[in-house]
Amino acid sequence: MRDDVKQLLSLQETDLKIKSLQAELAKIPQLQESAKTRLTNDEQALAEAKKSYQENEVAIKNIELDIGTRRNTIERLKTQQFETKKNDEYAKLGEEIIRYSKEVDDLETRELELMEIADQHRSTIESAKNSLSKTQSFVDEEITELQSRADQKRDTLSQEESLRGEKELVIDEDLLANYRRLFDKRNGDAVMLVSHERSCSSCHVQVTPATYASAQSGGEIAHCDNCGAILFTQ
Ligand SMILES: [Zn+2]
Repeated sequence: MRDDVKQLLSLQETDLKIKSLQAELAKIPQLQESAKTRLTNDEQALAEAKKSYQENEVAIKNIELDIGTRRNTIERLKTQQFETKKNDEYAKLGEEIIRYSKEVDDLETRELELMEIADQHRSTIESAKNSLSKTQSFVDEEITELQSRADQKRDTLSQEESLRGEKELVIDEDLLANYRRLFDKRNGDAVMLVSHERSCSSCHVQVTPATYASAQSGGEIAHCDNCGAILFTQ
């Protein structure tokens, strides 16, 4: 193999590492974002538990208002009963008082039921908070882990980039430009092996015997007749 092709092959190895590191680094912010979305379910569950608790509290307040109104009515009826001289009116007011007292009893029973429900809502809120904080710590851990992975990759990337700089120094400028153009255009397939069967390992098309002979002899730099890749033989 020609020395310059050997150097290009080694450069390509570094370039491929750089390319893959850059692709991995580009994915990390996305992975961090998707880790955060795992909080959404827990956040929603907590919001719903709080909402149910609030609605129940409003219902309790309304019942208390209803009880208060009826108690005032009962007091008013008792005063009227105390002041009346008529037996039938006294009895009628007595019936009203019993009816309102019964309503107060029913409302109080309902209020107790709602208070028990409030206890259940409170414990639902507590467990929703616990789940959220557990998920939060997993997510924080994952984000930190991704961050340190990114830092490591950035370090490796800068090492590979300086290595690339060193490797480029020894290569002829025109050849390097030609290599760069091929590397970009062919997604990293710039310097490729051509098999004994004359098949280019990038495009898999068979090269001419003359091209193969040229790659084998190392007299001149051989290019694949089909894709233009710089060829070498084993
Ligand atoms: Zn080819």
